[in-house]
Amino acid sequence: MEKLEGQLCSFCGKKTLTLMEDSQDIPFFGKTFLFGMQCSTCKFSKSDIEAAEKKDPCKITFMIEEEKDMKIRVVKSSEGCISFPSLRLKVESGPSSEGYVSNIEGVLDRFVKIIEAQKESSDDDGEKKSAKNLLKKIRKIKYGDVATKMVIEDMSGNSAIISEKAKLEKLKGKKK
Ligand SMILES: [Zn+2]
Repeated sequence: MEKLEGQLCSFCGKKTLTLMEDSQDIPFFGKTFLFGMQCSTCKFSKSDIEAAEKKDPCKITFMIEEEKDMKIRVVKSSEGCISFPSLRLKVESGPSSEGYVSNIEGVLDRFVKIIEAQKESSDDDGEKKSAKNLLKKIRKIKYGDVATKMVIEDMSGNSAIISEKAKLEKLKGKKK
């Protein structure tokens, strides 16, 4: 991993930003660059990924059916939008969206963290209850007790679910 410390942070103006760059060879996806930046003063952080090879806009659909699906690798760029339609969960792509390489369990854990934080900060009993139910459902998905569909749409094409079971569609659209 290449590291560049002491860079100027554009958020707090201090020279405490660390830039990181790494590359990884991901089977069935190809060489992928991972970028990260992190400021030790203001805690700003951002990460993204990019495939070395140019990719087409894509939509990937995957049916999570069993516990071992949790280990399936997921590549998500900052332009990738992940959704679980049956759970009504969605992460939009945007400036604050992160790119990462993880697995399905890791993706679900990211959602769990968000739901738990919302549950903690809410005063509404109904909201708390639906968050609790959602967390229970996610737990069942992890154990393979409930099947659910996961979808990633990425106009940059830099996202993937590495499995033979994943369905890949090419999307038409402008390439950035
Ligand atoms: Zn900073």
